[in-house]
Amino acid sequence: NLILAFESSCDETSVAVVADGHQILSNVIATQINSHKRFGGVVPEVASRHHIEQITICIESALEEANVTYDDLDAVAVTYGPGLVGALLVGVNAAKVVAYAHHLPLIPVNHMAGHIYAARFVKPFEFPLMALLVSGGHTELVYMQADGQFEIIGETRDDAAGEAYDKIGRVLGVSYPAGKEIDQMAHAGIDTFNFPRAMIDEDNFDFSFSGLKSAFINTVHHADQIGATLDKNDLAASFQASVVDVLVSKTHRVLEQYPVKQLVLAGGVAANQGLRERLQKDLPTAFPNTELLLAPLKLCGDNGAMIGAAGYVQYQHHQFGDASLNADPSLEFDWMPGMVK
Ligand code: ATP
Ligand code: MG
Ligand code: FE
Repeated sequence: NLILAFESSCDETSVAVVADGHQILSNVIATQINSHKRFGGVVPEVASRHHIEQITICIESALEEANVTYDDLDAVAVTYGPGLVGALLVGVNAAKVVAYAHHLPLIPVNHMAGHIYAARFVKPFEFPLMALLVSGGHTELVYMQADGQFEIIGETRDDAAGEAYDKIGRVLGVSYPAGKEIDQMAHAGIDTFNFPRAMIDEDNFDFSFSGLKSAFINTVHHADQIGATLDKNDLAASFQASVVDVLVSKTHRVLEQYPVKQLVLAGGVAANQGLRERLQKDLPTAFPNTELLLAPLKLCGDNGAMIGAAGYVQYQHHQFGDASLNADPSLEFDWMPGMVK
């Protein structure tokens, strides 16, 4: 089975060829980060224009790198939400055109399901499974009893983890997206500031990062006012220690109540070294019967391959869309269409 998969929900145009849902033949990613950096975030109109410019090139490169032609394909998968509507539409329309022209089934994929299935490239899923899904727009604990079944057990009440990284990045003078650089700075610093760990002792599975963000910004502004210089690496380390502490302790809390065979770490923030190391260190002792599946570093950010992996599951269940498929910018993280509840 060969799937041509499209991803264009935000600021990466990506097209991949995925075999049998777990083998990457190509995964072409055209990032627009440099165009958005000077605005400190993604500008929707700029994003759409870049997607339009890049999508055809990405399709051609993906087929060429995979050494396949349209005739070899079995289906076309595409992210149809959540994301920026104008950005999503470019992928959705391109996928429709390819599907129609080459008589291929069209598979509408939820971007967040895609993030989770990035871990499918490590090894097959075993259920029940819990996913700690941490990205630029989402921070969720997602329980899965089978392929395609998603239940949100806990989520952020305000900012997503990646969003918090990007926001404090501005204060630190780190350009968008700030996560990777702050992660590196954190490794060169120590947690001296002891920022709040919001909701860490509360008996629920939710998160909150806006208080941490405010505490961080206040600390930096106060230092500016009195003319003090703070160690940026220590600031980064302190911020990251708080984020990781909260994410890991809530994950432990949820695993106590929901024993699972595997814990998947996925989404853009899953690339965080501090978080990966901490889970690798703590999980085996705390939950010896739960296997840790870290999404491959290269597949944590937005990419077409993860959409192909999630799309393959839908292909097996004949969950296809048609020419009426539209972008859904606020698509809820529900079960895949047609899956039995
Ligand atoms: P969503 O997936 O929720 O729709 P998105 O697609 O914009 O949002 P992703 O591309 O999945 O988000 O992730 C991007 C986010 O990941 C950014 O906020 C970025 O700062 C963050 N990020 C990337 N690398 C790291 C890292 N090493 N540590 C922390 N955060 C990181
Ligand atoms: Mg991105
Ligand atoms: Fe994403």
